[in-house]
Amino acid sequence: MTGIKIPGKRVPIFRDSSFRFETIGQAEKAFTQEDDYPQSSPDFIYSRYANPSTVETEKELANLEGSQWALLTASGMAAIDLALSIFQKAGETGTWLFFSELYGGTNTFIDTILVERRGIKVERFNIEKKDERYDTDSLAGVLDRVKPKLIFFEAMSNPLLIVAEGNRIIRMAKERGITVIVDNTFCTPMLWKPLAAGADVVLHSATKFLSGHGNLTAGVVCGNDPEIKKAGMLYRKFAGALLGPDDAYRLGTQLRTFRLRYTAQCENAFRLARTFEAHKAVKTVRYPGLETHVTHGAAKALFKGSGYGAMINVDLNGGRRACDLFLEKASDVVWYTPTLGDPETILLHCLTVWGEERFPYPGMLRLSVGFAEPYETLEAGIVKALDAIDVED
Ligand code: PLP
Repeated sequence: MTGIKIPGKRVPIFRDSSFRFETIGQAEKAFTQEDDYPQSSPDFIYSRYANPSTVETEKELANLEGSQWALLTASGMAAIDLALSIFQKAGETGTWLFFSELYGGTNTFIDTILVERRGIKVERFNIEKKDERYDTDSLAGVLDRVKPKLIFFEAMSNPLLIVAEGNRIIRMAKERGITVIVDNTFCTPMLWKPLAAGADVVLHSATKFLSGHGNLTAGVVCGNDPEIKKAGMLYRKFAGALLGPDDAYRLGTQLRTFRLRYTAQCENAFRLARTFEAHKAVKTVRYPGLETHVTHGAAKALFKGSGYGAMINVDLNGGRRACDLFLEKASDVVWYTPTLGDPETILLHCLTVWGEERFPYPGMLRLSVGFAEPYETLEAGIVKALDAIDVED
């Protein structure tokens, strides 16, 4: 090292694919102790195994999640693949139970990779169609009948924002010795920490709120059990799924403002949800902070006043035509971008993304509320667009 000091907690970007050893003994030590996770530079071997820039960001993420360890991956999907694959054990994999309301990519991964390619037995725990929530009372019976070895759920689902009764679900699963994996992308560790409730693994698409600038793709898997960490590191090393050092560096830097950003996003979303709810052009608003949301009680109990998230689901009167008009009239403050967690407020049209069968609502938009715009500017732009729709209808 040059001895040059860098401010704050930042570390340099190590773009090197491998690291130099001074002696064979040093290399021998690094290889034999690799499972103990290298935390200092002489122990680093090869950047597909672990990289100093990546490790520093992992430490930040573990701090944020309150976990013993965090493993970075190249995307949220790679995090999902890693988290699930380490529990796949040839003939002993058993049945895995997935909650039905998941990100579309996760559902396709389950159907095309886990089921079709790997032959894993999968069952679903469905929402009650009549009121769009999980009937947690019936879960015990399902667990006893299906006897899954693993369950997987999103703490707040994409895109209907159904908040699961996370603590209760984990308790039911752990009483039966079932492994629990939670995708906490929408809630982030600011709203809920599933590991504290007994989950085995929590994962995030760090592409979203954690990085928060729409400028990188990353995922993270966090946990406390050292054996799971070991299995995760082994899988990541040979599946080649580690996040690159440049993106790890940027994620680490952007994490410094995560709490500020996400707090502002939650506040803006709550205010905006109320504005949507009060407008004649809007048929339904789904936002867990509103008392009208079917899982408001679950959200209140789980998040304990820390916020209700930055996502809003709005169903406009006037269907697809109203959505087109809204997009056109609100284009100063909102735009169509198929991701979430960006600095700006962005939206997507649910039916055309996920299909009519799952989302038969032509007027449904999913909004990710940003922090870059002053709230008053955002609200004024949105109300102007809603007024225009209402007049045309
Ligand atoms: N999990 C959730 C809840 C998501 O919404 C997404 C993507 O939108 C993912 C996982 C996948 O993340 P990535 O796009 O970073 O692979």
